[in-house]
Amino acid sequence: MASEVRCWCRHCKAELPPDHTGPCPKCGKLGKDCKVAVSAVVAPRASLRARKKRKGFGKFMIESIQGWFPSGDPKLKKGVDIVRIIDREKKEKHHIVTDLATGEVIHEEHEPLSQHKSQVKHLRKNVKKPKQNKKQRGVK
Ligand SMILES: [Zn+2]
Repeated sequence: MASEVRCWCRHCKAELPPDHTGPCPKCGKLGKDCKVAVSAVVAPRASLRARKKRKGFGKFMIESIQGWFPSGDPKLKKGVDIVRIIDREKKEKHHIVTDLATGEVIHEEHEPLSQHKSQVKHLRKNVKKPKQNKKQRGVK
């Protein structure tokens, strides 16, 4: 995995070195936007991972992963296209895997997020009621 940071001027979109500080050499304005592109070295197509954050929420609202992934399955030589969306806003999860060789959807999953959280912990109540042998009546 190689990660690459690319930065652009916020105003004229000129590409700037990631360690660039100060005003843009092209338009002279301040402001720089950076993106970290993480891509597998062997991947011919880039995968995209995006998170939508909202103030007040500690975690992301929507996470989506989309793009080409290599497949360990020898039947899927071209790899697969994976779309995975976790939408905390709508409480939905979508997972779609497409075979790139045929364009066929080989896996499709749509489920409410609440199902995920519904993995109820089995809390065993430790009720300690050792059965004591009560005095046997009638025995001399
Ligand atoms: Zn600029």
